[in-house]
Amino acid sequence: MSSDCIFCKIIIGDIPAKLLYEDGDVLAFNDINPKAPTHILVIPRKHIKGPAALTEADQALMGKVIKVATDLAEKAGLDHGFRLVMNNGEQAGQTVFHLHLHVLGGRAMAWPPG
Ligand code: 5GP
Ligand code: ZN
Repeated sequence: MSSDCIFCKIIIGDIPAKLLYEDGDVLAFNDINPKAPTHILVIPRKHIKGPAALTEADQALMGKVIKVATDLAEKAGLDHGFRLVMNNGEQAGQTVFHLHLHVLGGRAMAWPPG
C-alpha cells in the first residue's frame, strides 16, 4: 500500500470503482477515461511500481493478472481480438505508478502503437 497511489486507494475503497473482478491477489475495473469501447484495467493488490519493478517472487501473480485479463476479454465478448498493454515509465505513457494491465478492445487497433 502506497498512501499517495490512486490504485491503492481504489483497493482500500477510498476511491470508488465498479469492480469487474476481485480476489485476494487481483482487482479489475473499467478505466475512467476509456481509449476503446472496452477498456479494463487489471491490477495486483500488491503495490508494484511497474513491470520493471517485478521480482521473481511476482511471477505467479503476473500470470494471474494476464489470465484474469483474458478471461474478462472473453466475458466482454472481444471475440475479434483485444490488446493487452502495460506501460513502463513516463516516456511509454505510464501515468499511474501502480502496475496495471490495460485490456483494450471493441475497435480495430493500429500497429505499431503511437
Ligand atoms: P497508464 O497511463 O499509467 O498506463 O494508465 C493509467 C490509466 O488509469 C489511464 O488509462 C487512466 O485513464 C486510468 N485512471 C487514472 N485514474 C483513474 C481512476 O481514478 N479510476 C479509474 N477507473 N481509472 C483511472
Ligand atoms: Zn499502489
